[in-house]
Amino acid sequence: MNAPLPQARTATLPDRLGRPLRDLRISVTDRCNFRCVYCMPKETFGSDYRFLERSALLSFEEIARLARLFTALGIGKIRLTGGEPLVRRGVERLIAMLSAIPGLDLTLTTNGSLLTKKAEALHAAGLQRVTVSLDSLDDAVFRAMNDVDFPVARVLEGIDAAAAAGLTPLKVNMVVKRGVNEHSILPMARFFRERGHILRFIEYMDVGHTNGWRMDDVVSAREIVDTISREMPLEPADPNYGGEVAERWRYRDGGGEIGVIASVTQAFCRDCTRARISTEGQLYTCLFATRGHDLRSLIRGGTGDDEILDRLRSVWSARADRYSEIRSEKTVPLKKIEMSYIGG
Ligand code: SAM
Ligand code: SF4
Ligand code: SF4
Repeated sequence: MNAPLPQARTATLPDRLGRPLRDLRISVTDRCNFRCVYCMPKETFGSDYRFLERSALLSFEEIARLARLFTALGIGKIRLTGGEPLVRRGVERLIAMLSAIPGLDLTLTTNGSLLTKKAEALHAAGLQRVTVSLDSLDDAVFRAMNDVDFPVARVLEGIDAAAAAGLTPLKVNMVVKRGVNEHSILPMARFFRERGHILRFIEYMDVGHTNGWRMDDVVSAREIVDTISREMPLEPADPNYGGEVAERWRYRDGGGEIGVIASVTQAFCRDCTRARISTEGQLYTCLFATRGHDLRSLIRGGTGDDEILDRLRSVWSARADRYSEIRSEKTVPLKKIEMSYIGG
């Protein structure tokens, strides 16, 4: 049993560029029931792909211990992700453990496929909100993008179930890829404005190595805002908090808001306060990092809380990542980590 944590959550821990450690993404599984073309293309993640063994995954107890330690360093928000977090068996139990941490903002990103079945249990376990990824309302386009022939209607059912269960405010994430789903921008904006859910458009990113990313495939946030604004005029809105990755735009007629995440065309590294823990307990200080810091072996080696906290402090204090700001042919690292492993 570990002693009570030595430090309260008021601490702010700056990295080398003065950025505090504020939020944490935890990947709870590297598996997924979708094969989105921009994330887990079938050519790589085919039937013979070897996912992590169960024993390699952090247990719920290990995750909860790390979460408590991170909150002692100033983390106020945790997002569970993956892979598809809802395919990890018993994830509700993890949510119950994390939601018991006082004052923590706990949320989860999901492809929505299992929400109809799980929304109520997730809310009962203490989950506050969800973000659902959905790339098109056009069934044929969506089926092709998830590449497992999953129908739009079932994700929409899942979104309704989540809203009915109280997992709100609900956000919807749409990755826009040129020539694939850009014609879905307006129908998605109209639909979710009507429903009162916040739609956020994500620029297609060069995460990992397998998705064949090209700059030409990126539809810029500017272009997305202009497309919507021509039909439904938008104006910029202030960020909700410092370090918010989505730039907020609200409809001039008061009909809600959208967000754009311009990680490629308007990098926001200078405000990046985010750490990530991979499914097997590697700590990454950037989505594009090539090297993690092994927390699992610390935990499994019997290291005490104080020593782990020291390690976390020294990793974060040494952080100087700003990949998106310096992205260029020359700087693209050779061994980028796949999104489904590190957690988007
Ligand atoms: N499976 C869950 C889901 O899809 O919501 C959670 C994990 S997924 C990796 C997290 C987010 O990353 C999703 O919103 C997904 O659309 C986004 N994503 C994945 N690959 C991306 C890429 N190459 N560029 C931009 N966003 C990406
Ligand atoms: Fe799965 Fe999410 Fe990646 Fe799609 S984006 S393949 S749903 S992990
Ligand atoms: Fe943060 Fe790295 Fe993304 Fe920059 S590239 S915003 S440092 S995760």
